[in-house]
Amino acid sequence: MKKTKLLLHICCAPDATVPWPELIQEGYDVTGFFYGGNIHPKEEYDKRAVALASVCKYFEVEAIYQSYSPQLWFDATVKMKDEPEHGKRCVKCFELQLESAAEYAQKNGFTHLSTTLTISPHKDPELINEIGKNICQRIGLLWVEKIWRKDNGFKKSVEKSKQLGIYRQNYCGCLYSI
Ligand code: SF4
Repeated sequence: MKKTKLLLHICCAPDATVPWPELIQEGYDVTGFFYGGNIHPKEEYDKRAVALASVCKYFEVEAIYQSYSPQLWFDATVKMKDEPEHGKRCVKCFELQLESAAEYAQKNGFTHLSTTLTISPHKDPELINEIGKNICQRIGLLWVEKIWRKDNGFKKSVEKSKQLGIYRQNYCGCLYSI
């Protein structure tokens, strides 16, 4: 039987180490999607891309790398540059990342979308799920709602990342969060 095609939006490789195998276990055919335009500078983007490649190799899965377009991200968030972390700039950032993933999913035969973002203890999972659900409704996809940090999800992802020896960043990603 053909499996359901799910595109997993990936904020960073360490955060994908728990959601990816769990979604496969649930029976989805899962492909990753790395937006990356919010990551600054380019050297940091490269480190995170290499870490994602290691995760893909380990789980024998594939990820799509959106072409690195930081200017689009800066243009869309410039009015919110002085917002604190968790403020309006982050809401816009989640929208940009998930819209980009949803558009790719819709054009490439995926029916379902989810994100690794809700594994972070620093982010609001209800808000992220709400944004994802709204985008999916608008674009004609099904949102797979998850709160990955439940059941020690974040701790498990830290342990798995250490086991794989992959790079784990110490800031969220954008220039303003450094
Ligand atoms: S702090 Fe993180 S979520 Fe917020 S705008 Fe920057 S990269 Fe995006």
